[in-house]
Formats: sequence, structure tokens, C-alpha cells
Amino acid sequence: MRLEDQDASDNVEDRRGIGVGGGLGVGGIVVAVIAYFLGFDPMTALNIGQQVSQMQADTRAVREAPHGAPKDPQGQFVAKVLGSTERVWGRIFANSRVQYRPPTLVLFDGQVRSACGLAGAAMGPFYCPGDEKLYIDLSFFRDLQTRFHAPGEFAQAYVIAHEVGHHVQKLTGARRPSSNQESVRLELQADCYAGVWGHHAGELNQLEPGDAEQALAAATAIGDDRLQQQSRGYVVPESFTHGTSAQRVRWFKRGLESGRPRDCDTFSAAQL
Ligand SMILES: [Zn+2]
Repeated sequence: MRLEDQDASDNVEDRRGIGVGGGLGVGGIVVAVIAYFLGFDPMTALNIGQQVSQMQADTRAVREAPHGAPKDPQGQFVAKVLGSTERVWGRIFANSRVQYRPPTLVLFDGQVRSACGLAGAAMGPFYCPGDEKLYIDLSFFRDLQTRFHAPGEFAQAYVIAHEVGHHVQKLTGARRPSSNQESVRLELQADCYAGVWGHHAGELNQLEPGDAEQALAAATAIGDDRLQQQSRGYVVPESFTHGTSAQRVRWFKRGLESGRPRDCDTFSAAQL
């Protein structure tokens, strides 16, 4: 990616190195391989986490966390990608005469407390509609590289853009999925929105040759079918929540090619 000319967003909360004040304790949540992309709702994982550890919210850690773009290279990268999504979605919303309310990105390591509950890094990145924050553990990006063989900056940017996609869904009034089928449609729409961002980032000259391929590789690598195969050795279609690799690639591509959110209507699509 070419982000030299992109301003880093200040909507970053850096909670790396700040504990949650307690934690899940011994025998806390054991979430098998990155629950985020696996066949169950991250909110379920959060609920499990809460049941395991019934603790009062410790807001001290949140107050102490520095706000603003971090100075280290990885923090800067994340803040610039977020800045780019703000620019793109700000314009798209403005075209409909609506003001875009940007989300906050929380960087954490280990565990993090959110309005959606206590979460562990094993869950992977997630968006919490309750506090409109995206939670990103940078170790997930290392996993993306080593375990899922999806290296490259744009693969990481895609993950952030996907979470921002969930925020856009909240702003535009998407309802909470009540079935697995709906949850897949919600996920594929977030992939398509990530593609919409990619389209406009390309117009802003922020993409380099091969970037789109990196994101497609990431989408392929982290489809539920591939993940389930890697972690369990077999695929259980009923428990898919993010869609298959092929579906994720298809919807990401659609957003990337069109650049229009209205082309991301996974809910009325006859075929995913
Ligand atoms: Zn998602």
C-alpha cells in the first residue's frame, strides 16, 4: 500500500501493554483457533468469556490508554488505514447527505474489555456495536502471515476494512442476525464493504500492483471452510458464519469492482 500521503486517524485507543485488571484466570476461555472466523458467533464467545469470569468492568485501564495515532510503525499503519476508511466512507455518506460517524479502533494485546464483554486475543479482530469500536490484536496479523499464509499490508488493511464494514452496517441500520444464514449474509456484506473501500483507496492512489490479490488471498485463507479444515480437519457447513472462501472472495471482488455500497445487498441476493 502507498499510505505516505494518508493522514493517520486519531480515533485510535492504544491499550497494548495495559492489562484489563484481572483477566479470565486459569482455565478461562479456551477459544479454539481464532473464533472470529470460525463457525460460531463471536458474541457467543464473549458470553462464554463473561460467564467464566464474572467481573466488574475495570474502567481504569480504558482511562489510562493513550488516545491518538500510535508512533510505532505498526500502530501508524493501522491508524493510516483507519484514516483512509474515514476518508472513503465520509465521502460516500456525504453523497447521501449523511454525516459519517467514525468508529474508534482499539489496539490491544492479550485480553480486552469492551461493551460487548471481555475478549481474548484468540477471538481475532471484532467490532462491538455497543461502543462502536473495532478491536484489533496485532498478533492476529502475525497469524495471518504465518498460519494462514496471507502476508502483505493489504491483507491486514482488508481485515480492518471488514470490521469498519460492520460499523457501516450499524450506522445504516442493519439488524442483529437471528440465524446462521443471516449472519453469513452480514459477514459477506462486510467483505463487500471492505471491497468498496478498496475501490476508493485505489482511486486515491493508495494501492500498489498486487494489493487486491493479497486481499483475495486473505479472503481465501480465512473463509470458514478453510479455517475449519485447518483446525478440525473437516468442514461442517451448518456452522459457517462467515461464508465459504469462494463466497468471501466473490463479495469482496464485487465491492472492489463497483465501489458502490448498494451493490453489496447480500440480504436480497438469491445466490451468495
Ligand atoms: Zn465480520
